[in-house]
Amino acid sequence: MRYLVLLLIVLAAASVYAVTRFRNSRNVQKRKNNVIPLDAHRRARQHSEEQPCSSCKKKNGKLIFYAQDDGTVTGLCKDCRDKARKRDMLPL
Ligand SMILES: [Zn+2]
Repeated sequence: MRYLVLLLIVLAAASVYAVTRFRNSRNVQKRKNNVIPLDAHRRARQHSEEQPCSSCKKKNGKLIFYAQDDGTVTGLCKDCRDKARKRDMLPL
């Protein structure tokens, strides 16, 4: 009888261990999934810094994106940003 109780305890411990391991592996997968969009986002940001300005066509550092009245989006450099503000364009 004592042996049976011991066996039950061992089985319970083993199942708890299995469940926590399963949860941990799922958490790791979740964390990995979170990292990938962040990397993609960072790459997209780096890419936006290499894009030329829509107005003056110069690669003038980081672009700020504005929505135009017709619904199109333009990326403008620092120099062209003031012009966009005067035209009441909204930064995205
Ligand atoms: Zn510009």
